[in-house]
Amino acid sequence: MSSVNYFNKTAGWNLQHTYGKLPSGFFTYQQPVPVKNPKTVILNEDLCKELGLDFSDFPPQEIALLFSGNKTPQGSQPLAQAYAGHQFGNLTMLGDGRAILIGEQKSPNGSLVDMQLKGSGRTPYSRGGDGRATLKSMLREYLISESMFHLGIPTTRSLAVIESGETVYREKSQTGAILTRTAQSHIRVGTFEYARHFLTLEEQKELTNYTIGRHYTMLIGEENPALALLKAVMEKQAALVVDWMRVGFIHGVMNTDNMSIAGETIDYGPCAFMNTYNPKTVFSSIDVNGRYAYGNQPYITHWNLSILAGALLPQIHADQKQAIELAQETLNAFQEIYEEKWLTMMRGKLGLIEKEASDKHIIEDLLALMQQFGADYTNTFVALQTGDLSGEAFYEASAFQEWYLHWVKQVTRNGRNLEEVQKSMAQYNPYFIPRNHLVEEALDNASLNNDYQLFKELDQLLKTPYNPDSTKLHFQSPPPNGDAGYRTFCGT
Ligand code: AMP
Ligand code: MG
Repeated sequence: MSSVNYFNKTAGWNLQHTYGKLPSGFFTYQQPVPVKNPKTVILNEDLCKELGLDFSDFPPQEIALLFSGNKTPQGSQPLAQAYAGHQFGNLTMLGDGRAILIGEQKSPNGSLVDMQLKGSGRTPYSRGGDGRATLKSMLREYLISESMFHLGIPTTRSLAVIESGETVYREKSQTGAILTRTAQSHIRVGTFEYARHFLTLEEQKELTNYTIGRHYTMLIGEENPALALLKAVMEKQAALVVDWMRVGFIHGVMNTDNMSIAGETIDYGPCAFMNTYNPKTVFSSIDVNGRYAYGNQPYITHWNLSILAGALLPQIHADQKQAIELAQETLNAFQEIYEEKWLTMMRGKLGLIEKEASDKHIIEDLLALMQQFGADYTNTFVALQTGDLSGEAFYEASAFQEWYLHWVKQVTRNGRNLEEVQKSMAQYNPYFIPRNHLVEEALDNASLNNDYQLFKELDQLLKTPYNPDSTKLHFQSPPPNGDAGYRTFCGT
C-alpha cells in the first residue's frame, strides 16, 4: 500500500505575502491553534475554481486539516492583523482576535485574494476572547456572504466551513467551527485609525501606498495620495451602501473596523434582511438606539468616512487647518454622491428609464405607502416587475391603485412598452433573498441536528436570486406572523 502525502500536492496554491512587507507594527506572525477533531462541513467548489484551487482528489480529512488550520498550505506565512476601530462610536484597539491571514492567493486572473481562517484560535489581539467561533455563526456568514455575492453586491466570500470537534462557550455550549474567508483584502477603516494612533507618519504613508497599489492603482502618482484615496473609498462605500439599500440588507454592526477599504461587505455578524419596509428596521439585539438601522446606513457610512478622513489628516496636509479644510470639502460631497447613486438604483428598481425630475416623488410616494401598509420590500418590487398584483390587501388599497396608475403612466411615456420596462427592472429586483426565518431554521437544523438539507437548498437557490422559480414560492414569503420580534445576536 502506498500512502500519499497530500500536503506535498500544491492543489494550486500560489500564496503571496505582500501584507507581511508592511512595517512590523501592522501585524504579528501567528500560527493557527490546532483543533481537536476537524471535520469538513462545506467546501465552496465554485470559489475554489475561481481561485485556481482544486481539491477534487483530496480525501475529506485532508481538506479538514487544511481549512481548520491544523496544517497550513504550502508557502503560507500566517499572521494576525492589527487594527483599531470605533465600535458604536467609541475608539478601541482591536485586531484579528480570532482570525489568521494565511496568505494572498494569486488567482488565475492575476488578482490577489486574502485567504483568512476565522475562528482559528487566540492571537495577541484576542483580549478576553477565546479566539473561536461557533458553527452556527460561521454557517450564517457562509450563507449570507455567498448570497450577497450572487445578488451582485461586493462582499468577502466563504470558501469552507470546518467543524472543530471542540465546544465553544457562549450563552450556552455550542459546536465550534472555522470559516475560510476570502477578500480583496482585510484592510479596514480601522487599520488606518490604528496606524494614525500607534505608528509613525512614515508608516501611515506606507499603508496608504500599499492600499493604493492593491486596490486603487488608478491613483498611483496622485499629488495628494491620501486625499485621493479618501475620495475613491467614498465612491466605493456610497455604491456599496446603495446596493444594500436595494435589496434590504441591514449590516447590523457598521463599526469602522467592519468597513473594508476595498468597498466589500465584511464581518457578517448580526446582519439580516428587511421584510416589511420600514427605514427604522433594526434586528441586532445590541443596537438599542437603532444606530445601524436600515435607513441610517448611509448616514453611518458618512460618519465612518469622516473617521477615515480624521485618520488621514496628517497625510493630507502638514498644516492641520488646511488638512481639515481639504478633508471637509471632500466629505461634503458624500450626500450628493450617495443621493445620485440611490436615485439611479431606485429608478432601476421601478423602470423609470426616462429619468424625469418627478421620478423622486414617485419613488418616495411608493416607499411611504409601503411603510404605511407594512408591505414586503422585496415582494412589492417583484409584483410591479411581474405585473402579478394579487394576493395582498396592499395592492387593492385605493392609495396604491392611484399610485400604480400614475407609475404606469410615467414609465410608458414616449411610447414605451410596459413589458419592456418591466424586463429592465429584473436585474435590480431579486425574487429571492435570505429570509431571516428560513436562515434561522436552516442554521438551527444544521448546527443542532446535523441536518443540512435546508441549508443546502437555500444555498443553492440563492445562487440565482433573480430567476423566477414557481416551485420555490415558499422561499419568497415573509414569515406569516411578521418579524417584529426577530432579533439577531453578536453571539459569535
Ligand atoms: P467583530 O464584532 O466580529 O467585528 O469583532 C470585533 C473584535 O473582537 C475583533 O477584534 C475580533 O477579532 C474580536 N473578537 C470577536 N470575537 C472574538 C473571540 N471569540 N475571541 C477573540 N477575539 C474576538
Ligand atoms: Mg469585525
